[in-house]
Amino acid sequence: MLLERAYAKINLTLNVLGKRPDGYHEVDMVMQSIDLSDEVALEWLPESMEIVMESQATSIPLDGRNLAVIAAEKFLSAANLTRGVRIYLTKNIPVAAGLAGGSADAAAVLRGLNRLAGHPFSLDELAELGAQIGSDVPFCIYNGCAIASGRGEKITHVQPALRSWVVLLKPPLYVSTTEVYQSIQADDFSNKRVSSAMTERFAKGCTLAEIESLICNDLQPVTFRLYPEVAQLHRKMQSVSGLPCHMSGSGPTLFTLVPTQSAGQRVYNALRGFAKDVYLARLFQPNSGG
Ligand code: ATP
Repeated sequence: MLLERAYAKINLTLNVLGKRPDGYHEVDMVMQSIDLSDEVALEWLPESMEIVMESQATSIPLDGRNLAVIAAEKFLSAANLTRGVRIYLTKNIPVAAGLAGGSADAAAVLRGLNRLAGHPFSLDELAELGAQIGSDVPFCIYNGCAIASGRGEKITHVQPALRSWVVLLKPPLYVSTTEVYQSIQADDFSNKRVSSAMTERFAKGCTLAEIESLICNDLQPVTFRLYPEVAQLHRKMQSVSGLPCHMSGSGPTLFTLVPTQSAGQRVYNALRGFAKDVYLARLFQPNSGG
């Protein structure tokens, strides 16, 4: 049995640059892993050719619609293997939350099966396979901090990255990423790419306060229009925490960055006064002890 962690991500920037002829939107984003994670356990099934998936989670399909199962199918076919696999997913990342939970699971399956199979593919090759599953999967192959462009699948690694803690609030509703992208109006396009300005500030060692003003998300007004209760929770989160709050991806998860764990704990306690799904996490950089 082999274990792989699947890390959630937040968007520090998300600019939508336009709609492409293939129907996807051209985006420019700073993506950052956080140490809120799922655990994926993998093993070969000796006497079966099936992909069997189990999980303690009741809110996701465990059949061929699950991105983890799709990832296993893609891997086996690309590696020319006819083998059975068992996937056990311990789900901690909230579902349909704008935190790329499904993409993270798919990426963990690709990395894990690659280890089980004796590393037939490089990480870059796994990212190419991942791009066929979903736009966020390549980022989740590498984790850390990166600029993601194209439809989100083109990854430029960012070093150094921001060191901080994050408090997340997941509003009690599902948001469809497709619906949010389909509801974008002409005014929502920013025609700005804030990612390089932000990563330049990381390189200069700027403080969290100096980074804060660049955090942006062009999808935030779209999701707030579609789901006014998210806008209402955003206002409440800002007034209770006394800090700027932002939305990740297409939402509805809201987050605020804090410099220390103790500051994060104070905000966490305050938010728990009115919201059930609140998380305190750390920005995660691979190979730096988390
Ligand atoms: P993104 O921002 O990339 O759209 P998200 O965090 O908003 O991702 P997910 O948690 O990945 O959303 O879930 C989106 C949809 O994908 C849900 O409807 C869910 O049923 C489906 N799904 C498929 N596989 C998984 C998985 N392994 N974990 C969670 N959801 C999954």
